[in-house]
Amino acid sequence: MSSAAYDDNNIFAKILRGEIPSHRVYEDEHTVAFMDVMPQAPGHVLVVPKAASRNILDANPATISHAITVVQKIANAVKDAFDADGVLVIQFNEPAAGQTVFHLHFHVIPRHDGIPLKPHSGKMEDGDVLAANAEKIKGELGS
Ligand code: AMP
Repeated sequence: MSSAAYDDNNIFAKILRGEIPSHRVYEDEHTVAFMDVMPQAPGHVLVVPKAASRNILDANPATISHAITVVQKIANAVKDAFDADGVLVIQFNEPAAGQTVFHLHFHVIPRHDGIPLKPHSGKMEDGDVLAANAEKIKGELGS
């Protein structure tokens, strides 16, 4: 394996351990989904496997398989919750590809025709807005 080692002090590992807060919309045995704090559009969610891996390059295939089924579930929920025209799924591997947090995650971003995507890791969103958007998505998920 050519990538660097997994570091369990990364921010998503801390979120998974409950050491720092997040606006969670979904959780199952293997996966958590929570709001991105610097959303590229309202309703931007991160789907994060609980198993430790830096990214898709070193992840267990079973971890990826399960996570992508959760990505589908969240994609449909954000599409309905935000009345979106489409849904963008992005996943970065290593700094050269734009990855900034080194625990595997998938971005799920509702898109509307004619509205440009905001920058990746751009502006921090207000906590109340994130909480309200999380509630909309949870409403669609029935959770
Ligand atoms: P990347 O590793 O490039 O896929 O991007 C990491 C993403 O995590 C960015 O979109 C950040 O806005 C987001 N992010 C960073 N810290 C937090 C946090 N504490 N809670 C939720 N999202 C975060």
